[in-house]
Amino acid sequence: MMHRSVLRMCIVLALTGTAYAQTVSGTNLLRWVRGIEGQSPQGRRDFVKSELRKLNCKFRTMPFDTVIGEGARARRIVGENIIVGVGKGTRRIVVGAHLDAVPSSPGANDNGGGVAVLLGLVKALRNHSWNYAVEFCFFDQEEAGLVGSHVYVRVSGQRERHHAMINLDVVGTGEEIYVGPTGGGDDDHLMPIIRKAAQTMKLRLQEREFYPPSDWASFAAQGLENISISVVPKSDADLLAEAVRNQWKIDSTKVPQVMKVMHTPEDKSTHVSPDALSMAFEFTKTVLVLLNQLGNKP
Ligand SMILES: [Zn+2]
Repeated sequence: MMHRSVLRMCIVLALTGTAYAQTVSGTNLLRWVRGIEGQSPQGRRDFVKSELRKLNCKFRTMPFDTVIGEGARARRIVGENIIVGVGKGTRRIVVGAHLDAVPSSPGANDNGGGVAVLLGLVKALRNHSWNYAVEFCFFDQEEAGLVGSHVYVRVSGQRERHHAMINLDVVGTGEEIYVGPTGGGDDDHLMPIIRKAAQTMKLRLQEREFYPPSDWASFAAQGLENISISVVPKSDADLLAEAVRNQWKIDSTKVPQVMKVMHTPEDKSTHVSPDALSMAFEFTKTVLVLLNQLGNKP
């Protein structure tokens, strides 16, 4: 039999443990960005796995070794998606962030920030009472041509099970939430929930029809419901949408702030702000909780 004081202590520990598990500050998120920035491709995968182990979180991996392109342009791409599955239900929500970076870039904002926010969401929401099966996916080799997410959709993106995909990419600098691409017919269910989340949090939302190519496109290619979330500096939303619309053929005065750092050796955590990360985390968390409440029950 357990002594009463020991029992009391266990309850206190259990309660504080739960409270602690759900608290994710901007400083915590920035620490994850610092942990992954500048690492080798394998170092980035190992970082995600070791952080998940520290959270006592089970995960599965989806290794791949594939050739993209043809003839002289053919390239062998090797990688590994890391997936945390929680909840249950016949329908599935996917929350993704790519873990890889372009060679020669430390990959702090693109996409160490997305990885940090996804780790935060795993920490905060894995014990949520889900009406859905939820897969938190750290996709590999996005920069090589959305390879990891493409493999994931091919292997496990069954149309009849898919409910929604939320993609996190470039969430570490700025003050505004940018979501897109909207209006393609594959966000009709998500957008009202995204707007409601913004309203609840009193955030101004920058919705755009154009969003840079990222893992969302692997889902869109199969007609699967999806949306992407970024955080960008004020005045960047129009420039970014315009740049994507013109397929990056823009004059030098119209380059969005985020693009000046992304994919360069300057993409360091010194340019990443805890407030931006925190905003992306709180917003996506609100979206997921609302999606779980308001989405069609399985
Ligand atoms: Zn990216």
